[in-house]
Amino acid sequence: LKLGVFGGTFDPIHTGHLVVAEEVRVRLALDEVLFVPAGHSPFKLDRAVTRAAHRMNMVALATEDNPHFRVSDMEVVRPGPSYSVDTLEELARAHGKDSGLFMMVGADALREFDRWHQPQRLLDVATLVCLARPEAPQLDPESLESVRRGATERVAVIEGPLIGVSSTNIRQRVSQGLSIKYLVSEPVEAYIYEHGLYKDSGGQGQFAWGVPT
Ligand code: ATP
Repeated sequence: LKLGVFGGTFDPIHTGHLVVAEEVRVRLALDEVLFVPAGHSPFKLDRAVTRAAHRMNMVALATEDNPHFRVSDMEVVRPGPSYSVDTLEELARAHGKDSGLFMMVGADALREFDRWHQPQRLLDVATLVCLARPEAPQLDPESLESVRRGATERVAVIEGPLIGVSSTNIRQRVSQGLSIKYLVSEPVEAYIYEHGLYKDSGGQGQFAWGVPT
């Protein structure tokens, strides 16, 4: 089994996530892409994030029409900060040695790879996949090389399509009353309005960390 693992806050999931996930799936001939919404992201402790149940529901809605996409609640139900290395080690145990794990990470997020929790261990269990974004179109080797020399050569780089959409954009646009049609999938758009998400957010999620889901 070749499994793509796509972690993120997904507050909310948008077209950029979906387009690159599909691109990686086809280019790397993955059997499946597993979307793993973060419980408590160690990198976003400084801002309010929408509660996990909403973020999970939106990922489920956005991915339901793709038979190769799945959603996991493993980080949401795990107590404490959501570390990718824990997720990947758990998946490696569950799927056995013969499966390949491909950890999908935006080029912006990879620049901070040396600040991740136990990045060396992560390199032992998974192949990194670097997703280009318009603001970070290329793999920046510095952080990776400081974790392990030569690590850059083992990263699979996916160079496009470049989609200039971020969750921050979406939250801001909703709070400004601007359209998000085509920037998120239709059921996600409907869900956001139905639940009144991001209305008064000023670009932040709606609930502070720690609010029970
Ligand atoms: P925010 O604007 O709230 O920081 P985001 O749009 O970056 O959110 P995340 O849920 O934090 O979304 O992203 C999850 C992963 O997807 C990260 O590795 C991120 O770099 C990557 N990613 C997000 N948007 C894109 C995009 N448009 N193209 C490529 N990769 C993306």
